[in-house]
Amino acid sequence: QAAAKAAAATADSGAPTIFDKIINKEIPSSIVYEDEKVLAFRDINPQAPVHVLVIPKVRDGLTELAKAEARHGEILGQLLYAARIVAEKEGILDGFRVVINSGPSACQSVYHLHLHVLGGRQMNWPPG
Ligand code: ADP
Repeated sequence: QAAAKAAAATADSGAPTIFDKIINKEIPSSIVYEDEKVLAFRDINPQAPVHVLVIPKVRDGLTELAKAEARHGEILGQLLYAARIVAEKEGILDGFRVVINSGPSACQSVYHLHLHVLGGRQMNWPPG
């Protein structure tokens, strides 16, 4: 499985991603939370009973966290706060994990910045 994940990880090409289709409602998703700037929907391949992705509706160069600039500070804060809203909605405020994979070595596979919100089970440490 680790090899499959590594194989799935590609370099950041800047090309549109599947998340654009989710934002534009061209493909279905299970939306948990939405506001003007942020969309949160269930991961199609959940790694925990609760596994929600939180993304900016406008990518604005944020293909990966490594590309963040000072001007992204506001949306980055909004994404993190949205993760907390998702955790409350999902009833996991007592314990949840927020993960950002940035780049091939972290097995990032979709190059539209996203936060993974995970919970509903005991989360172990360290992650792989
Ligand atoms: P990884 O694939 O290694 O977890 P990422 O951090 O880039 O790397 O995560 C992308 C996530 O997007 C994956 O957890 C994957 O299951 C999820 N995903 C891909 N396509 C969809 C989709 N159509 N709907 C919901 N989640 C999706």
